[in-house]
Amino acid sequence: MQSQIQYFLAILAISYTVLLGIYFLFGKIITFWNRHLGCSKKIQSKTSSEVEIKRDIVQSVKSLFFIALMLAGGIFCQRIGLTLRPTHLTPLNSLLWFLVSMFIFDTWFYWGHRLIHTKVLYRQIHAWHHRSITPSVWSNNSDTLLDDLILQSYFFFAPFFLPIPAAILIAHKIYDQITGMIGHSGYEYSAGPLSRFPFLLLGVTFHDQHHESFNYNYATHFSLWDRLMKTIHPAYDRRILDFEKSPVDLLEIEPTNES
Ligand SMILES: [Zn+2]
Ligand SMILES: [Zn+2]
Repeated sequence: MQSQIQYFLAILAISYTVLLGIYFLFGKIITFWNRHLGCSKKIQSKTSSEVEIKRDIVQSVKSLFFIALMLAGGIFCQRIGLTLRPTHLTPLNSLLWFLVSMFIFDTWFYWGHRLIHTKVLYRQIHAWHHRSITPSVWSNNSDTLLDDLILQSYFFFAPFFLPIPAAILIAHKIYDQITGMIGHSGYEYSAGPLSRFPFLLLGVTFHDQHHESFNYNYATHFSLWDRLMKTIHPAYDRRILDFEKSPVDLLEIEPTNES
């Protein structure tokens, strides 16, 4: 029993350290890139204030602990045999598992996100995340714990309904952390044919428009559910096309405050 507790605490410590490390290291890299290396495709004309960035960082440190707790909990339960038995990992099925996990999480995220946008739940659970109308790379994990419990609990529950190898679940969480941060960075990095109709990948503009316009673009990895449910922002595809055509600024950029 004691060794199991130690094992759980070790997974939790590693998960939290890795997620926190990515948050600060990658956040600094993206901020540096935006400021000094000339990604000029800014999506909104405004930038986040120092106060907003500090608020988001403080909340993210708490929120990432809770996300690490859920990921570590899922891996631990699988390890002690409380979940489905994971399949043996091979190079071919690892790619397949990754794609399956992305699709199922995207479905989980889309419908969970729609749920917390309802009047009953929004104010208590999700309004905090929407305090950033112009998000920055630091906004990705600025969530309440209840928000994480709904949107991120996939990483706890997945081993209970999928025989997913732990390595894939961890790789997916790392991928989600990185792409989520890029999705809040405020600069369009991935405009291209695959990010617009009829393809389903996303540009940074996708989630930026969710913060700016609120009632559109609920998914996180693909535009599939938003296209099917007609919640995709009416200007999303056109905006991506504009960014593709224009190698220079589409907006006048104010000096950035991002630290
Ligand atoms: Zn939202
Ligand atoms: Zn967001």
